[in-house]
Amino acid sequence: MQEDAIQADHLQRFIFDNAAIRGEWVQLKQTWQTVKVQREYPPAVASLLGQMLSAAALLAETVKMSGRLVLQCRSNGPVSLLMVECTSDHTLRGLANWNGEIADDATMQELLGEGNLAITIENVEAKQPYQGIVSVQGETIAEMLEMYFAQSEQLKTRIWLATDEHTAGGLMLQQLPEQDPEQHDENWNRINFLAETVTNDELLNLDAVSLLYRLFHEEMVRLLSTTVLEFACTCSRQRVADTIKLLGRQEAEEIIAERGMVELACEFCNTHYQFDPVDVAGLFSDPLNIQNDSDTLH
Ligand SMILES: [Zn+2]
Repeated sequence: MQEDAIQADHLQRFIFDNAAIRGEWVQLKQTWQTVKVQREYPPAVASLLGQMLSAAALLAETVKMSGRLVLQCRSNGPVSLLMVECTSDHTLRGLANWNGEIADDATMQELLGEGNLAITIENVEAKQPYQGIVSVQGETIAEMLEMYFAQSEQLKTRIWLATDEHTAGGLMLQQLPEQDPEQHDENWNRINFLAETVTNDELLNLDAVSLLYRLFHEEMVRLLSTTVLEFACTCSRQRVADTIKLLGRQEAEEIIAERGMVELACEFCNTHYQFDPVDVAGLFSDPLNIQNDSDTLH
């Protein structure tokens, strides 16, 4: 049990006592492994997906919500879709779709071409989901998100993301409101200057305390809460049943005639859901008319 606790993926929140700045650090190992094994991702695609996964964890923690935060990038490039979700239960899932051969050293611009990144917050308490959109720009996922914050938020935000085969990690700094604007900028610039030295190796291999000490030992960093994160998929047999109902009776019956059953796999977790002819008939039968099926009303 103790080993599990040590290895659990987590996010560490922190704050500077000598500056109006808050921060978050995240490192995902098991979650990242579980997302990655669902498909045979080319390394360059996996790298983008890992960065998005860390970013979703960092962003979700900044939002008070009961629901989920979704990052979705659609593009006309070889990577047509990148999608990750982080729920208020601290679960993550994600996937990418791509076409053709992908070079290992392909850049984000080459992979995404022209497209948009949408940030959606689905809060059960809100009538409408919140959505912010930024066009694909910059050289990294982190830069693209920073541009989103620059466009939409008053508070300055910096993000660093890194991914390798084993780990996806990230660091985020965000300004908090402060009275004295001059002091505010001075603090922000000084702490960013220190944070700028962070390497991918440090993001992926140091624990939170070691990294924060290495970067900010001259500052007054206070650790706040830690959140445990894990992979989980929100798919269910009921949701797949609803999808089959949307297909309609005729199409479902055509699939049954052709293949003997309707089988759908969840794209996030690869769970296969099978509906045999009896199951499918059950989906389209009206329970009220089950006694006199010959007289079914439509
Ligand atoms: Zn699933």
